[in-house]
Amino acid sequence: MNLSYQKRFSLLEAHNFRCIYCKEYIRFKDLEIDHIIPKYLLLKPIEHQKIIKDYGLDENFDIEDYINLLPAHDWCNRTKKRLVFDKGAALYYINIARSTAQKAREIERRILNSLSSDKWLLKIGSAIENNIISKEDLNNLMKHFDSTEKDRYEPIVVSFSINLYHNENQFEDLSSVQVYDFLEKELMNYLNSIIDGKFYYTESSYRNGEVISVRLAFAQLDFEKLEKFSLRNWEIMEVNYYSEIYSDYS
Ligand SMILES: [Zn+2]
Repeated sequence: MNLSYQKRFSLLEAHNFRCIYCKEYIRFKDLEIDHIIPKYLLLKPIEHQKIIKDYGLDENFDIEDYINLLPAHDWCNRTKKRLVFDKGAALYYINIARSTAQKAREIERRILNSLSSDKWLLKIGSAIENNIISKEDLNNLMKHFDSTEKDRYEPIVVSFSINLYHNENQFEDLSSVQVYDFLEKELMNYLNSIIDGKFYYTESSYRNGEVISVRLAFAQLDFEKLEKFSLRNWEIMEVNYYSEIYSDYS
């Protein structure tokens, strides 16, 4: 969501206002920008580098550039959110994006060149006066900017998991609940010692007798520190933007 407004619009116009998946017309308010190489990889430098290399992409390949962006309907994209394209599909879509990237850049330049505040205020005023745009449209527009503002502070959710099997014989004299509590507390203490910012549980931990899974949200996360994470057999299972896991974030 944190792509600039004119970039979103330029992309849409460059693709003739058509959804990449269903080919139907997209109204601006229904537009979702699909990142072909998913954006969450920006949070995982090692995996990110690996995919760039495996897919034979330029090492400076910019996930936020037009060559990685496609317009889709809200509903067409949403179903694909969790899906990472395989190499063939990714390269197919990147080719499409690449072929329209130049056009999108030109449209963006044209928009920027035509911006002069008086002219635009006049246009917006006339558009409202003549019911060409409604107050609701304007409100949606303002909401867009509010959420872009929020995106900059969006927390990162990290899922940690440990398989008790590997630790079993170290805690022979403790009940299993005591072992769970101990391990979880140890994780929290360890994270407190390596991470500067605040973090909190987004849901209670999951315990099934074999595995403990803990989901924590970090307000500001230093990825270099997270990459050095090493504690018993705890593993980092998943790193994501908060909104990719919990839909209540908007
Ligand atoms: Zn569609």
